[in-house]
Amino acid sequence: MKLPIAILALTTPALAFTPSPRISTPTSSLNAVSKKDTYQITLLPGDGIGPEIMSSCKDVLGALQKRCGFTLEMKEALIGGVAIDEAGDPFPDESLEQCLKSDSVLLSCIGGYKVNYNTLPYIAALLPLPIYSLINIHTLICYMIVQWDSNPRELRPETGLLKMRKSMGLFANLRPAKVLSQLIDASTLKREVVEGVDVMVVRELTGDVYFGTPKGIDVVDGKRVGYNNMIYDETEIERIARVAGDVASKRGGKLCSVDKANVLDVSQLWRDVVTDVITKDFPDVELSHMYVDNAAMQLIRWPKQFDTMVTGNIFGDILSDEASMLVGSLGMLPSASIGESGPGVFEPCHGSAPDIAGQDKANPLALILSAAMMLRYDLDRAEEADILEKAVEAVLDQGLRTADIKQEGDGCKLVGCIEMGKAVADIVATIDMEVKV
Ligand code: NAD
Repeated sequence: MKLPIAILALTTPALAFTPSPRISTPTSSLNAVSKKDTYQITLLPGDGIGPEIMSSCKDVLGALQKRCGFTLEMKEALIGGVAIDEAGDPFPDESLEQCLKSDSVLLSCIGGYKVNYNTLPYIAALLPLPIYSLINIHTLICYMIVQWDSNPRELRPETGLLKMRKSMGLFANLRPAKVLSQLIDASTLKREVVEGVDVMVVRELTGDVYFGTPKGIDVVDGKRVGYNNMIYDETEIERIARVAGDVASKRGGKLCSVDKANVLDVSQLWRDVVTDVITKDFPDVELSHMYVDNAAMQLIRWPKQFDTMVTGNIFGDILSDEASMLVGSLGMLPSASIGESGPGVFEPCHGSAPDIAGQDKANPLALILSAAMMLRYDLDRAEEADILEKAVEAVLDQGLRTADIKQEGDGCKLVGCIEMGKAVADIVATIDMEVKV
């Protein structure tokens, strides 16, 4: 189902621009733009800790440009709660238009709540009045907190995220789970199990039981019956298999396709099509198949057996979260969502962490690693991506830790978001690595 084009035609405003030429071969779906001197990047800082981590990431990208002699023209746009407040829409058409004309999109995170400090003077003035019982004080405090998550569905931050994925045709989600030697103890699994783990989960994002029809809750013979439809057509499977083949060929050359072909017809088709695509178009990739229940177990038992995994939307939803827990910290996990053409969206796996927003406690490393994925997969700048990834490892080697990755008695230095970002930027500027111009 080559839907994205059709969806785009129906949902996006007419755009007066020429998209950048992108590299794609018949066997490749990772369609980076051709390497160039100047790229247009849309930044979506979003909510909660989003603006803080984005600011750190911008400093790091600034240092990278200076060092490597290319330009990232970065322009911000609205998404999430902040977009609801400022534009009455969680992903306004102007933001979509700007994303579509860029070479790539970097997103922090959305959602949660915010404290409306503008209400403070009124509340302070009313507090001494005797009519204000404890219950009323509680009501006033609730009034101070803006909870976007309890808005009607069309005005919730997640609706903006779904609109973005759908209208940009982002059908493939790439989630690496790499255990860094410096953070092995952050994992809940034994050191010998997680040491050296480097798994990439490629998840189909726009099909499967989440989108299949018919679906609903009906009354049959006096009983309520709920149902969804697990459905893939072969073109949807082919295109995700191509992305996975491409990713695997650029990593360790091993691809494990996960399905439930012993029970589900849709999985049998999945297995047949993946086998055809990989054997025909990626002969150097070693393909294996695994049932999803076994894959869930093997990921915990011996995750080092996996290099790249590819699976459908619902299995991928569960397995990619499971794989992230091998790493142990949300603040270290990047991700990429890409489509058949046009820019991808690169974002950390974590949410907006409203509990620590505005306190300089956020870990910016997942966003910086997402920027590295953007350089590698969207901008054809793999060497520059290597520099960012090495710089992240180097700050950890220096013993710097934000609170989320600090272990008691580890002898490391606790730093905030700003100091962590600055340390990465300093290393990017000075690290001894060669980049071919
Ligand atoms: P969360 O990921 O925001 O936070 C979970 C815990 O991890 C919190 O204790 C938080 O402080 C911590 N944490 C997360 N990221 C961190 C970072 N970079 N540095 C340090 N600590 C970090 O998950 P949640 O609390 O369930 O969700 C908060 C909001 O985020 C909700 O509104 C949710 O819907 C939204 N959300 C958004 C996205 C997204 O933007 N793609 C993803 C997940 C959740």
